[in-house]
Amino acid sequence: MSALVRELRARIALGGPLTVAEYMAAALGHPRHGYYTHGDPFGREGDFITAPEVSQMFGELIGLWCAACWEQMGRPAQALLVEVGPGRGTLMADALRAAATVPAFREALDVHLVETSPGLRETQRKTLTGVDVTWHDAPQSLPAGPLLLIANELFDALPIHQFERRVGAWRERLVDVDPSSGGFRFVVAAGPTPSLALVPEDDAPPGSVAEVSPAAIGLAHEIGRRVAVDGGAALVIDYASPRGALGDTLQAVRRHGRHEVLDEPGSADLSARVDFAMIVRSAAEAGARTFGPVNQGDFLCALGVEARAAALARNATEAQRADIEAALRRLIDPGKMGTLFKALAITRADAPPPAGFEGTVA
Ligand code: SAH
Repeated sequence: MSALVRELRARIALGGPLTVAEYMAAALGHPRHGYYTHGDPFGREGDFITAPEVSQMFGELIGLWCAACWEQMGRPAQALLVEVGPGRGTLMADALRAAATVPAFREALDVHLVETSPGLRETQRKTLTGVDVTWHDAPQSLPAGPLLLIANELFDALPIHQFERRVGAWRERLVDVDPSSGGFRFVVAAGPTPSLALVPEDDAPPGSVAEVSPAAIGLAHEIGRRVAVDGGAALVIDYASPRGALGDTLQAVRRHGRHEVLDEPGSADLSARVDFAMIVRSAAEAGARTFGPVNQGDFLCALGVEARAAALARNATEAQRADIEAALRRLIDPGKMGTLFKALAITRADAPPPAGFEGTVA
């Protein structure tokens, strides 16, 4: 039995079943045994692959997107370039390389990373050798000033609460010890739990599952507030849940395959689909304007990903050309990341649409 399983069993024995959010927070972020705390889960050899690890084009185009936003902002002499949940630091390295093609933009940038995992901070330090970086535990400690903020596949890792519809009432789903196996199992709270107030009041057929992430609501609000107060733009890209959908979207992935959510916590990635409507609402409540969400494929095509792929292919070997084409298809094709992932921009209330979002304004 792993140290994390032992610790979670002891917590349940003392305090009763855990919320799904508590379980997810421990499995991903436990200070010693969490999935993100140790190891390097991304990339071809890891458990899953994210867009910046698929191709350098992804981060480069985002760097150029930031440069275009900076132009729209009136070229401020100083701006924060912030990434929340930077993983290996690949996106930031690619974005900064592209940013350097606009020297005045690169010179204006002050790079900040918001990262909770000490192990991944170390990886980011190595990827970004030579870059002056400041790390933060949370966006609240970022210095004041206009900012360009990026969050790719971050919201899907934030803990969610889950609720099940019973006849006439919602009840919270909890994680308990399974007495027959000693492992974990889902149970439904017999009565109201504190987080029940988070569930929408709507009626739903018995058996429906609703998901709410207070951590995601808090982060979306803080990003909206910062952009509204200090100016700038934020770009959120993530695996989206269908509009207004109910349903259990919590999944575990290990070595590029499905894994049981409650098996060996800390050994697999856990994620849930992101409720973009909620991000839009939270950012708007904080005084910001939003554009999108649009499909990742449409966003990248609007930024010129196909031209970038063609340019890379010109100087490539035949094998490299095949890789570039495969990466392009993976990033933009429908049914792949092109439609499963959505992009959302958050700006000041009076800002024009950022690059790639012009078509979202009626
Ligand atoms: N953006 C990267 C990595 C995505 S994985 C990519 O696209 O490859 C999620 C990242 O978010 C990891 O770096 C993880 O350690 C970090 N993370 C998880 N919860 C976080 C939180 N609450 N605040 C900041 N970073 C967090």
